[in-house]
Amino acid sequence: MTANLLDFDLEGLAAYCASLGEKRFRATQLFRWIHQKGARDFGQMTDLAKSLRDKLQGNARIEGLPLISQHESADGTVKWLFDVGDGNAIEAVFIPEDDRGTLCVSSQAGCAVGCRFCSTGHQGFSRNLTTGEIVAQLWFAEHFLRVHLKRPDGERVISNVVMMGMGEPLQNYSALAPALRVMLDDHGYGLSRRRVTVSTSGVVPMMDRLGLDVPVALAVSLHAPNDALRDNLVPLNKKYPIAELLDACNRYLEHAPRDFITFEYCMLDGVNDQPEHAQQLIALVRGHGGRGVSCKLNLIPFNPFPASGLLRSPQQRVQAFAKMLSDAGIVTTVRKTRGDDIDAACGQLAGDVKDRTRVTQRIAQQRTVMLKQVPAQVASKEARGT
Ligand code: SAH
Ligand code: SF4
Repeated sequence: MTANLLDFDLEGLAAYCASLGEKRFRATQLFRWIHQKGARDFGQMTDLAKSLRDKLQGNARIEGLPLISQHESADGTVKWLFDVGDGNAIEAVFIPEDDRGTLCVSSQAGCAVGCRFCSTGHQGFSRNLTTGEIVAQLWFAEHFLRVHLKRPDGERVISNVVMMGMGEPLQNYSALAPALRVMLDDHGYGLSRRRVTVSTSGVVPMMDRLGLDVPVALAVSLHAPNDALRDNLVPLNKKYPIAELLDACNRYLEHAPRDFITFEYCMLDGVNDQPEHAQQLIALVRGHGGRGVSCKLNLIPFNPFPASGLLRSPQQRVQAFAKMLSDAGIVTTVRKTRGDDIDAACGQLAGDVKDRTRVTQRIAQQRTVMLKQVPAQVASKEARGT
């Protein structure tokens, strides 16, 4: 099996090039071709020696994920469904805003945490994505969108990445860390550390590792202000209860001193949206360990799906909850829901995991349609069935 170069961060690619007897600067050139120019064919890399191109041709490949479908929302949000084999599929979502372009990336097919309010959690866990499969989402989206949105040569579309698609990124740490390095690398996507966000349900030991290795922005899915309720909503809380989680947040901030933690809080009607919950939340984030946690609160209107048996909090209650937090001096935002019409909103990414029949049928039906819509280089690869 040839090596897929999307699996490597720059260090990894340098080691790979060394194994082929090539110097480090060749790895940098190659890395730039792949990530900055979106090249997938070694023949395109005109400034590499022909001998190296030939060597790569025989030993390596640049292989993205087969695309199953693409949906574009009226608000400009784009959702892609990718085939990751064995009847599993994952999703990535592009969210354009005036001052930024955010890509929401998946880290696993399914998720083992099993949060009650999350569609991915309800699907169960299939497998971890590889580094290449995580990177492929950004690589494809960035280069597809440059063409689709007719950006002038080389101008970036994606300015922010959030690891908020399917899966718990910190339960796939060994694949995640190199993927983050590719995103941050100046020779890769050159995203700033604060524009790449890892969202976690609270895998405490891996929060510590991330802080040491790649201290990007951290979002923590809190969703409840006390352990009894959080145990019920986010089962991982039984392993890492709130006090331990908040300690880990403060340790994380030691590596990123001017940063803050974003606490995510999904508003569930009658479950976690009452005034007493807001009061408990204020006490928690202001008082924990005597100094509190430097944070912002992001309230997420729940995106319902039938199997959850839960409902979205009414807007007025969300506003009242937000006001209590703001009045207590906590910076609070209410997340705008985007891409509703294409089921691309938070927690709606299901990707038909494990639903083998439907995925297979959809691939068969949509491949023909998609070939007409994607850029030529993607289509030719699809057509080859690689
Ligand atoms: N596993 C990670 C990242 C993926 S989920 C995590 O849990 O943080 C990204 C965000 O979407 C999390 O804050 C999650 O709690 C939220 N979310 C999940 N299901 C949702 C739903 N149905 N409605 C709104 N937000 C949801
Ligand atoms: Fe997994 Fe996050 Fe969904 Fe919980 S909210 S089940 S951790 S993807």
